[in-house]
Amino acid sequence: MQITMLDYAKKLDEQDALGMYRDEFYVQRDVIYMDGNSLGLLSKRAEKSVMTLLDSWKQYGIDGWTQGENPWFYVPEVLSEMCAPLVGVLKDEVIITGSTTANLHQLVASFYRPEGKRTKIVADELNFPSDLYAISSQISLHGFDAEENMMLVKSRDGYTLQEEDIINAMTDDVALIVLPSVLYRSGQILDMKLLTEAAHKRNIVIGFDLCHSIGSIPHELNKWGVDFAFWCNYKHVNGGPGATGGLYVNRKHFGRKPGLAGWFGSDKEKQFDLSTNMSPAADAGAYQIGTPHILSSAPLYGSLEIFAEVGIDAIRDKSLKLTDYMIGLIEHELSEYNFRIANPRESVKRGGHIFLVHEEAARICKALKVHQVIPDFRSPNGIRLAPVALYNSFEDVWKTVQILKVIMKEELYEKYENKRDVIA
Ligand SMILES: *Cc1c(COP(=O)(O)O)cnc(C)c1O
Repeated sequence: MQITMLDYAKKLDEQDALGMYRDEFYVQRDVIYMDGNSLGLLSKRAEKSVMTLLDSWKQYGIDGWTQGENPWFYVPEVLSEMCAPLVGVLKDEVIITGSTTANLHQLVASFYRPEGKRTKIVADELNFPSDLYAISSQISLHGFDAEENMMLVKSRDGYTLQEEDIINAMTDDVALIVLPSVLYRSGQILDMKLLTEAAHKRNIVIGFDLCHSIGSIPHELNKWGVDFAFWCNYKHVNGGPGATGGLYVNRKHFGRKPGLAGWFGSDKEKQFDLSTNMSPAADAGAYQIGTPHILSSAPLYGSLEIFAEVGIDAIRDKSLKLTDYMIGLIEHELSEYNFRIANPRESVKRGGHIFLVHEEAARICKALKVHQVIPDFRSPNGIRLAPVALYNSFEDVWKTVQILKVIMKEELYEKYENKRDVIA
C-alpha cells in the first residue's frame, strides 16, 4: 500500500499500541492539534488532579499544607520522584519548581563561578532568546562585560549545530556551558553524553535546557554525568499553561550553597524553626526559593501518572514513527511547493517535531488554522508541526499534509498577510 493513501494511515493507527491514550486527552473534534511542543493538551487525569487540589483548599484551608490527598508541603518532592524517570536521574536530584528561565537564573547563579581568566559562558546562537537574556544578565551581575563573556557557538547552516564546533569553543577561559538538548526550531538533538564528556575533560561545568526534549525523548542525565538541567512542564509534559517547571542537579554537587536562596530551599525538618541561618536541603530541593506554586503543579500529578504508565521509550518509539511518516508524506505530496525540511533526518538526531521552512510560512500557518490544523509559526519563516505520541494519530498526520497540499495548490494562503500575530 502506498504511504499517501488514507488507508495506510489507518493501518498504522490500528497497529498503534498507544492509540487508546488519545481518549485520555481533550482533543477537540475536527481540530488537528500539532502544537504539543508549545502547549500540550489537557488530559482528563490532569483535570482530575487539579480538581482534587482545589477540593483540598476548599476543605482544609491552611491545613491543606499537611492534610488531604496531596499535602501541599510535599507536592514538589512527590512530583519530583514521578518526574525523575523522564530525565534519567535519582529522585533526589530533581525538584519541581519555578519556571525555565527562573530555574536557569538559579542554576547559573549557583554554577557560574568565574575565576582568573575563566570567565566565559558558552551558549549557542540558535537557543531560545530567554536563555540568552538570562545568561547575559548573570554575567553582568558578576561585573563582567556580557558581550565579551557570552560565547555563542555559530550554526553553519542556520538550523543546526555541530558538536565539533561546540567542543572547539570549550577553551580554557570557559567557566560554564549552557545548551539546549533539542533545538526549538530545527528539533536537532545535541549529543549530551559526548558534550558532557568533552566539557568535563576540560574541567568545565555543563548544563542543558530540556524544554523541547522532556516528555518527548529519553534522557540519562545521571549516567552521562550532566551537571545540571532545567525545563518547563507545559510543552510535551502536558502540565498546562505556566505549569511549574523543574530542575536537576547532579548528586556530586550536593552540599554547595544555592546561588539564590530562600526558605523553601531549607531542609524541610528545619524550615519552620525559622532560624536566621538557613539550613539548605541536602538534595536538589535546596534550589527552591519561595512557596511552591501548588495550583500550577497540580496538573502534573495526572500528567506524570500517564508517563509512568506508558513509559518514555514507548512514547519515543511512536513519536519517531509519526515524524518519519510525516517526513515521508511531505516529500511525496509537497515536493513542488518549495518547503525545506530543516530538521535532521536521522532518528538519533531528531526530536519530537518537524520544522518546515517556507518564505510564506506566516500566512501558511494562518491558512492552516482556518482549516482547523493548529501549527506553530516561528519567525521569520518556520512552521513547526509536532505530532505527539500520546494524543495524535497517524491519520492526523495524513490529514495535516493533505490540508497543507490544498493550501499550497490553491494558494489559499494568499488571502492572509504574511506577518506574525502577537503570539506566534
Ligand atoms: C519554552 C522555552 C522557554 C520558556 O521559558 P519560560 O521561563 O518557561 O517562559 C525557555 N527556553 C526554551 C529553550 C524553551 O523552549
